[in-house]
Amino acid sequence: MTNSPMYDLECINIAKSFGSIRAVDDVSFDIPSGSFFSILGPSGCGKTTLMRMIAGFEEPSAGDIKIKGRSVLGTPPNKRNVKMVFQHLALFPMMNVYENIAYGLRCNGVSNTEIKRKVHDVLERIALPDVADREIHQLSGGQKQRIAIARCMVLDPDVLLLDEPLGALDLKLREAMKIELKLLQHQFNTTFIYITHDQSEALVMSDHVAIMNQGQFEQIGKPQELYHHPKTAFVAGFVGDSNRWSGKVKSSDGSGGKVQTEQGLEMAFTAAGGLKIPEGAGVDIFVRPEFIHAVRQTDAESASATGDNRMEGIVDSLLFNGANSRVLVRGPQGELIEADVTLTGDDDIKPGENVYLFWSSRQAMCFASRGAA
Ligand code: ATP
Repeated sequence: MTNSPMYDLECINIAKSFGSIRAVDDVSFDIPSGSFFSILGPSGCGKTTLMRMIAGFEEPSAGDIKIKGRSVLGTPPNKRNVKMVFQHLALFPMMNVYENIAYGLRCNGVSNTEIKRKVHDVLERIALPDVADREIHQLSGGQKQRIAIARCMVLDPDVLLLDEPLGALDLKLREAMKIELKLLQHQFNTTFIYITHDQSEALVMSDHVAIMNQGQFEQIGKPQELYHHPKTAFVAGFVGDSNRWSGKVKSSDGSGGKVQTEQGLEMAFTAAGGLKIPEGAGVDIFVRPEFIHAVRQTDAESASATGDNRMEGIVDSLLFNGANSRVLVRGPQGELIEADVTLTGDDDIKPGENVYLFWSSRQAMCFASRGAA
């Protein structure tokens, strides 16, 4: 029986400073074998620096990195069994597909017979068995992506790092490649670590996502956990769309209460996860558009509709996007509120109409403002 380590990668209190800039600030996490793990955060939050430390291009200022249970500190990139796919893919334009994939094997001194077997095997696995003789410029954007992954996977890495590899693709191809990448990860059953600032990529593909902000991880979780149970205001605002209000707690009974927003509105909230916010504390409230129900004030439904939050507004505009259509409503204090709607083209609400917006306090995610006591 093999005694294989549970985690393909462990980062233990790692930090990286560039002069006074703390690019990565005491980050710890571990990734179980065979996972699709994404690091999601805004530009400049430290994603690339973290990735470069895992790959061995930067040494951490503090902490340890273990791959398959062994520390790789001080081990150069080519001696770590980690491969990386870059945004620009870095395929060799002067070599055909076969030679691009064979390159790493040749550098490792693998025999020609074995190279041939491995290259054809990996081309089968990425479902491109017939492109070995093609030149790189003869491939489509999606095919180039797969060849870039094949070139790494043929070397059987413990971990594959992907640095925004879909960034240069057009929208339609990005959508297709998200699914493709997830299927490829399943196919190879190798840990993929994917960095991106695009939440839809991270949520669709990943088993787990780490939300990074200012050099630190705010939360690590399954996509559904991050979306429905964010632990911080940053996560609530960064993952998925939200309407956001700031205010002060007016009354609180421990499990929820009422907030007076800066616009002078009163809103009910239910405190998530035993969160206790004292009266008078500053808070941020987030409500997702799909939980806000917009109805004409003249509709019978509006008279009977209940919900512990009701707000009057005037329709500003409609954003038709098939199943994900949305209405923008101007609230009483001039703020724009987004609510999901079904637009059929037949008796839709129209700009200028008076509406009520309803939502349940259970859907109002409430967080103590940063810096608040
Ligand atoms: P992006 O999504 O824009 O690539 P990122 O999240 O990958 O951003 P990093 O590139 O890791 O962020 O940068 C994190 C911080 O560290 C930034 O403030 C950046 O300016 C700084 N930084 C990164 N590399 C260096 C370096 N070699 N020297 C000095 N500062 C650096």
